[in-house]
Amino acid sequence: MHYIILDLEWNNTYARRKKGFLNEIIEIGAVMLDDELNTIDQFSCLIKAQIGKKLRGNIKRLTSITNEDIKNGVVFTRAMSAFRDWIGSEENVILSWGDGDIRVLIENFKYLNGIDTVPFLSNYSDVQSYVQSVLKVSKAQQLGLSAAAEMLEIDESSFSHHRALEDSKLTAECFKKVFDKELFSKFIVPCDNDFYGKLAFKPKAISNINNPLVDKKLLSYKCEKCGCDGEIIKPWRYSNQYFRAIYHCPECDSNARVAVRFKKYYDHIETKKNISIIKPDEEQSEKEQS
Ligand SMILES: [Zn+2]
Repeated sequence: MHYIILDLEWNNTYARRKKGFLNEIIEIGAVMLDDELNTIDQFSCLIKAQIGKKLRGNIKRLTSITNEDIKNGVVFTRAMSAFRDWIGSEENVILSWGDGDIRVLIENFKYLNGIDTVPFLSNYSDVQSYVQSVLKVSKAQQLGLSAAAEMLEIDESSFSHHRALEDSKLTAECFKKVFDKELFSKFIVPCDNDFYGKLAFKPKAISNINNPLVDKKLLSYKCEKCGCDGEIIKPWRYSNQYFRAIYHCPECDSNARVAVRFKKYYDHIETKKNISIIKPDEEQSEKEQS
């Protein structure tokens, strides 16, 4: 098994056919690790800009890639087939820090080559989510590569940041530090229809309370102080991603705002429930308003 750690640099640019903005890949870098995590090869290629001829200022500053560089780069299709050749026929998994680069890769293949899949992707793993799980960083947080390197006590100063190859090397160092074959295998996904479907799916909060995916048990309130069931005094209504209601505790004579969000992902529902006790003075002003 080869581990291919990939990193891309891209330039956000207006794409006419899309009538919208797109992240055009301007550089691809990767390192190849063998089964024992020895670095056995590396790949680096600047890509000729076909959609946006001018780099955004922040990209120039961040990467030090110039407009001249992207003018003289390798055409996307050729760069990608060279990358595919470089990967070779050994069984592999492609890794990237977060799934952003993979989304961009899919978007570029679609726009420039007119295909919905990435020919060299067979297995994929998001190293960021793997590293975060090992470091016990909550999924709600997005751990940056630099922050992860620091937590793992990797000396970053030897890597020049925000260039594809250097970032892939740093990602590889982070990966090596926390690698556990058994544990990591759970983070490898095959790049099948489900994989592409999941990436294309835009998570959205459910706004219809009668949707069968809404777990009605969560639309309730137990007083945080005394534990008794609250009585609903202002019925559920949807606003700004949440179903919201006001409950009253007859024991404590207090009111609470309850907000529940059901966010639909490709294959699961994520729920979030917030409760805040309404202070008496707040209640007064609320009454005055209504
Ligand atoms: Zn109570």
